[in-house]
Amino acid sequence: MLEFPVVRCPSCNKETELDKRVITAQSNQNIIFTCLFCGYMERNIETNKG
Ligand SMILES: [Zn+2]
Repeated sequence: MLEFPVVRCPSCNKETELDKRVITAQSNQNIIFTCLFCGYMERNIETNKG
């Protein structure tokens, strides 16, 4: 199974898997995270991929 890294939203502190629901890939290989819970957006997030 493919496991997605998990990111914690700095706004509401809820943890979300980084999958296609919450990331937007940019042409310059940056990604934008959008929190499903509060709508917070952050660029160039760091993940906890172990
Ligand atoms: Zn949030």
